[in-house]
Amino acid sequence: MRPEADLLEIETRLRKLAPASDRQDGTLDEEIALLTHLGWLRACMPIRWGGDGWGSEPVGALDAFNVLRALGRANLSVARLFEGHMNAVKLVALYGGDPEQRKVAEVVEAGALLGVWGADDPHEPVRYENRGERLSLSGKKRFASGLGLVRKAIVTVATEDGPQMLLVPTDDPDRFDHSAWAMDAMRATQSGRYDFDGIELDSSALLGAPGDYHREPHFEGGVWRYCAAHLGAAEALYSEMLEHLVQNNRADDIDQQRRIFAAGTAIETARLWLVRAAGEVEAAGAKPEKAALSLMAREVTEDACRRVAETIERAMGIPAHIGGSFTDRMLRDLRLFLCQAAPDAKRNRAASTLIGRRARPEHL
Ligand SMILES: Cc1cc2nc3c(=O)[nH]c(=O)nc-3n(C[C@H](O)[C@H](O)[C@H](O)COP(=O)(O)OP(=O)(O)OC[C@H]3O[C@@H](n4cnc5c(N)ncnc54)[C@H](O)[C@@H]3O)c2cc1C
Repeated sequence: MRPEADLLEIETRLRKLAPASDRQDGTLDEEIALLTHLGWLRACMPIRWGGDGWGSEPVGALDAFNVLRALGRANLSVARLFEGHMNAVKLVALYGGDPEQRKVAEVVEAGALLGVWGADDPHEPVRYENRGERLSLSGKKRFASGLGLVRKAIVTVATEDGPQMLLVPTDDPDRFDHSAWAMDAMRATQSGRYDFDGIELDSSALLGAPGDYHREPHFEGGVWRYCAAHLGAAEALYSEMLEHLVQNNRADDIDQQRRIFAAGTAIETARLWLVRAAGEVEAAGAKPEKAALSLMAREVTEDACRRVAETIERAMGIPAHIGGSFTDRMLRDLRLFLCQAAPDAKRNRAASTLIGRRARPEHL
């Protein structure tokens, strides 16, 4: 499937739906149903499973990038869930055995949204005990996106040899804790805590070996996916600012032109970095050190997004913050979604690669 023709239409439809779900109990049922209907959940699967390889094969990297960017332009909450699904499918494609892959392909074909839940509750991290052929789970995940929408999630469990992935059904409403998401942004993601206490699974739930989850270039290297969504939001804010200034006869003003210039160069710089990172990280046989490209692209994207957010606030003034407006929602969602885990460590890791290889980024 080539998504280009659909992108603008889908973006417009999702954008119209977005205000209704921007509340604490908002849901994305309609949006996810639309993506399922369009075949986008299936498209994330490798071609050999009947998908289009979006995010799971080299040939689908650019489509994945453009789709995530379009979703980001419309609604970052939808982009968040779709990115989690894409990541989960990819992890099963990389580390699952034939039976697991077949099972996952079947549920995705039937319309299931998947997720990746890695963030442990600091007091009760998820653990499992081996009881013969059975696994017994305990603990909780927090910041788990898609409560009520994600039917199966890849859940990580810390072990001495690195995180072990488990593929776990996550559709039991009695285990949801929506109150754990006390943010005024990304509300439609229906994020919160999920309680795994007492869940029993058979050992086929184990996915890959301990440490596989952190294997590069696909762990840190995969951050280009959420960055594509962030960039989409910045692109939409840029367009909104431009339209506002033109409509209010302020676009000829020299200071406003400086802002248009600054925001325009910021988003295009991030786009160029991300296209390179996505293409090279997802290439067949990509080396682990390619992850540094994604980490550098992440930094450029975060800077671009923060610059655009600040620029649009200065360019538009109060109208950017009118409750219920597109800019108000996007600015809130983007500032929160930019808080992805351990950004300092990501910079250090990229710098270590440059030092270790004595390389210019161009030669990574
Ligand atoms: C909208 C949204 C949806 C999400 N959905 C999911 C999901 O579905 N699944 C999932 O697993 N996670 C999800 N997350 C969680 C996300 O992946 C991160 O775990 C989370 O954002 C980290 O939050 P934090 O800002 O507290 O991070 P931190 O990593 O604590 O970062 C905060 C600051 O502390 C610094 N820092 C980090 N570690 C240290 C340290 N040891 N010493 C000193 N400084 C440190 C960082 O560099 C940064 O400056 C979601 C997050 C958001 C915003």
